Amino acid sequence: MILTGKAKLAGVMGWPVGHSKSPRLHGYWLEQFGLDGAYLPLSVAPEDFEAVLKALPRMGFAGVNVTVPHKEAALAVSDTLTDQALRIGAVNTIVFGEDGKIHGSNTDGYGFLENLKFGAPEWSAKNGPVVVIGAGGAARAVCAALIDDGVPEVRVINRTQAKALALAADIQGDISVLPNSALPAALKDTSLLVNTTILGMVGSPPLEINLDGLPTSAVVTDIVYAPLQTNLLKSAAARGNVTVDGLGMLLHQARPGFEAWFGANPEVTPALRKFVLES
Ligand code: NAP
Repeated sequence: MILTGKAKLAGVMGWPVGHSKSPRLHGYWLEQFGLDGAYLPLSVAPEDFEAVLKALPRMGFAGVNVTVPHKEAALAVSDTLTDQALRIGAVNTIVFGEDGKIHGSNTDGYGFLENLKFGAPEWSAKNGPVVVIGAGGAARAVCAALIDDGVPEVRVINRTQAKALALAADIQGDISVLPNSALPAALKDTSLLVNTTILGMVGSPPLEINLDGLPTSAVVTDIVYAPLQTNLLKSAAARGNVTVDGLGMLLHQARPGFEAWFGANPEVTPALRKFVLES
């Protein structure tokens, strides 16, 4: 590890932040590139968020990631926002300008798409409609990325339909909100099925879904990454669908921030996956 008085600084702001894999992930890349820099866990209570964030550029920080529960607050205090962050309603990556200005973006959708394209190169937005289960914060990023990539129709199914309707209104584009009962018909011509709910995650019940109508040519992906192989992915693989796990989304969403802060374009490799999983 190289750490001099000229080290570039970044980190992740969360509350709590102890569970975050980001310091290990960015630390791996800093080491790999031999860079003079540090990426720190920053445990910041919600009431201190704005004051701490605004102090960071004055302490020489190049930027930060922002995680739960600060993503909406980060949107509110950003001086500039990308179009996707605005539509998603949340910021996860901040770059400080030389004048201390806060430039907010959301790279979750980018991470989702990069992971999908690496994991299932045969999938393309042109392949047809996509079914997204869930309408939380991550679903908003996933839907924005899919629409912006040119998917002809995104069909959203969520336990709380009002949240799915709000998602469709905010993200814009061809997004239809369907009741649970419409799932079998919605799956019939889909090119991609995505789980964005917490179902399947360690400590949560599995996502119970009948895949009978899903074409075997469809790709199935889960953004839950603990466990890596969720019940959904196991069932899909058993019937011949290509599956993509959620860890790559976490790794790829980190790349734009690292490049902006430290000036090197990092890669997601099997060795990085292994290193992050070991934590
Ligand atoms: P969130 O905003 O709290 O949304 C949670 C979603 O799960 C909502 O759609 C919610 O439905 C649904 N849900 C929760 N309990 C349910 C239940 N018992 N039955 C049916 N639906 C249920 O959370 P989030 O930030 O979007 O995160 C969702 C998941 O994605 C988490 O597991 C998170 O770890 C994972 N994630 C992964 C990455 C990655 O990089 N791979 C990135 C972000 C998030 P309602 O609207 O009805 O409550």
